[in-house]
Amino acid sequence: MIRLDDLELVPLSDGFFRLDGGAMFGVVPKPLWERRLPADARNRVTLGLRPLLVRGARTLLIDAGIGDKMPDKLVDIYGIDRRRHLDHALEDAGIAPEDIEVALASHLHFDHAGGFTARDRDGGLRPRFPRATCLAHRGEWDEAIQPNERTRASYLTENLLPLRDAGVLQLVDDDEEIMPGVRVRRTGGHTKHHQIVMIGSGGRTAVFAADLIPTTAHVDEPWIMSYDLYPLETLAFKRAFVREAIDREYLVFFEHDPRVACGYIRERDGKKFVEEVR
Ligand SMILES: [Zn+2]
Repeated sequence: MIRLDDLELVPLSDGFFRLDGGAMFGVVPKPLWERRLPADARNRVTLGLRPLLVRGARTLLIDAGIGDKMPDKLVDIYGIDRRRHLDHALEDAGIAPEDIEVALASHLHFDHAGGFTARDRDGGLRPRFPRATCLAHRGEWDEAIQPNERTRASYLTENLLPLRDAGVLQLVDDDEEIMPGVRVRRTGGHTKHHQIVMIGSGGRTAVFAADLIPTTAHVDEPWIMSYDLYPLETLAFKRAFVREAIDREYLVFFEHDPRVACGYIRERDGKKFVEEVR
């Protein structure tokens, strides 16, 4: 647990999954990226799934991992390893699913929004956190429920429609305050309405960077995922954001890093690196 003014931050985990290493690093050649994240025999790199809990005026969960609804074929393709998943992490932190009042999505890809829903014993789908209002960006929602050929593999309607049908969905616009000390900030890039979460006020600031900087290996500007729909937007936002994060000493949470939950981005002799915080 990390304390930030009057907010408590609890890094969580929904396990691990694997994505194609080439796709994770875009234009960066394999001899460079495999030194940072080694590939398996199927050219996949292991990634974390790290939702973040924030306790303040309300109890807020940011993203929820993949969840337990993926069919066996996709569990194999994505190498999903949920032997230790979000329920375990919440239990370890002493938090019950009923304690979560707000569930906020950085964006609605399956590896971020899958865990907002769960399957009933009778096979139906229901919100996983019974008391939570689920927040998503309005534009992101519209794109997610009408995916195209390029976005269809990432936006799974089974992760989305049950939230709307249960009446727990609430849509937000650009850069809204979620609760005192917590606001979203639209980055674009990864998806048109992808948002990061700025946490804290006055003194220290933490940032849930979501897929803007998915791992500590993505801090350098051109290390941008091929999954990004608008990579030049990612580049522009990231260039400014990384500068800001270094200068203002933001504590940055890396949602997909396999090892490091959070740290400070530092720069020495023109080289950027992450100083891990445990
Ligand atoms: Zn992701």
